[in-house]
Amino acid sequence: MTGLTATKPESRNGPSTDFTQFQQSLEKENERLEKRLKDYDRTLKAPDRRNGGGGKGGHDADCGAKSDHLLEQEIRIAKAALATVGLALDRIKKGIYGICQECGDPIPKARLIALPSACWCVECQTTRENGEKSVLLV
Ligand SMILES: [Zn+2]
Repeated sequence: MTGLTATKPESRNGPSTDFTQFQQSLEKENERLEKRLKDYDRTLKAPDRRNGGGGKGGHDADCGAKSDHLLEQEIRIAKAALATVGLALDRIKKGIYGICQECGDPIPKARLIALPSACWCVECQTTRENGEKSVLLV
């Protein structure tokens, strides 16, 4: 009972594990990402992409490959985000949501509000990000 977290006016259910708001925003995010992936997929498969926008002809293929590459990168990012959201939803179902995957400490609620799909506490996330930075820069 510390005054650190924002007090909620209503508390009809048990006070301990009320992750409904996180579940809802995660489900919304899940839907949004799935829709985006479908859009990407449609863009990749669209026939007019193959025809290109005319021009001198010759470097068209290069341009097309470049934007395909960008799109594929975005798809990869969206897929990764979707997987993270899916994991978080799974953790809610299993009753282990809000617990750091790395050290088992509870993840601060403020952090979950900012990032509902967070699987790690701030400390472990920082460690991971430091490790990932080198990967991202490649
Ligand atoms: Zn941790």
